[in-house]
Amino acid sequence: MSIEDLARKNVRELTPYQSARRLGGKGDVWLNANEYPTAVPFDLTQQSLNRYPECQPKAVIENYAQYAGVKPEQVLVSRGADEGIELLIRAFCEPGQDAVLFCPPTYGMYSVSAETIGVAWRTVPALEDWQLDLQGIADQLDGVKIVYVCSPNNPTGQIINPQDIRTLLEMTRGNAIVVADEAYIEFCPQASLVSWLAEYPHLVVLRTLSKAFALAGLRCGFTLANEDVIALLMKVIAPYPLSTPVADIAAQALSPLGIVAMRERVAKILVERQYLVAALRDIPCVEAVCDSETNYILARIATSSAVFKSLWDQGIILRDQNKQPSLSGCLRITIGTREESQRVIDALRAESV
Ligand SMILES: *Cc1c(COP(=O)(O)O)cnc(C)c1O
Repeated sequence: MSIEDLARKNVRELTPYQSARRLGGKGDVWLNANEYPTAVPFDLTQQSLNRYPECQPKAVIENYAQYAGVKPEQVLVSRGADEGIELLIRAFCEPGQDAVLFCPPTYGMYSVSAETIGVAWRTVPALEDWQLDLQGIADQLDGVKIVYVCSPNNPTGQIINPQDIRTLLEMTRGNAIVVADEAYIEFCPQASLVSWLAEYPHLVVLRTLSKAFALAGLRCGFTLANEDVIALLMKVIAPYPLSTPVADIAAQALSPLGIVAMRERVAKILVERQYLVAALRDIPCVEAVCDSETNYILARIATSSAVFKSLWDQGIILRDQNKQPSLSGCLRITIGTREESQRVIDALRAESV
């Protein structure tokens, strides 16, 4: 048997997640991964790397609980929100039997994590306005253990109607977990569903330090849920999911001063977003720019594949969303610095003539 044949069938058939980093490119304007455009300074205070780290570093958990307005018992920290997506499947889904459900166009890791573990995934396409098709979901819930709802949604940028998520929570009570992926919630904090945890034992909220906290390279994310859910996830998480330096930097980022700095970054991004949206709406080859509650915008562009390639060749790396259902002709653009916005604007103007 070849090495390939020795592998599990679902792994042989797996298409790995096409992360922005994997897609490569030789750019100097990186607007394809929804990262913060500039690095934030940090210090390493923990020097004792001879010792194993805490599984759930106390300072990180306490600081996040305080920031999110929940009890420390309701917080799990992991290697990015991506690990949270996977831990939930490992804890709640029986491979070959249960399924997860999500509503494209949305984040790509829900299907990749399910496939890696051998759990089926089902999709119910979003409606024309990219809101939830509640009837469609109700019709597909049989055997579903987890429903992922990304709000605000990546890549469309809009908040999913809270009333619809409430209806979803009512229809899944006792049967499935509803996961609200709030990776971008710092850009629209009023939309968080965290305060609903008291009402819904099956609600889970995912968070990350990768976006507004400007720490994508740190790999640190959070799962917020009721204590029963957290206790189950603690059974399947690795014994040492975060290295000591990660915990050290995360605790600093979540200190009162760190939170203030994050809010200043968010304010800057919102100003820059307004500038970029206004400029794009004035460019002939840009057919539509969606309203966004996040640090990226989705735009429909004439001959988008050719434009994507042309900008790529100029070192301006955007994210092509063409292949997602209902997003033909769409490119996703991360909000960067003013100079980066200007490079995009100038390049798109040049494509229009
Ligand atoms: C970026 C992103 C994540 C992953 O966050 P990490 O903490 O970097 O793993 C999860 N969900 C969505 C919707 C994202 O855009």
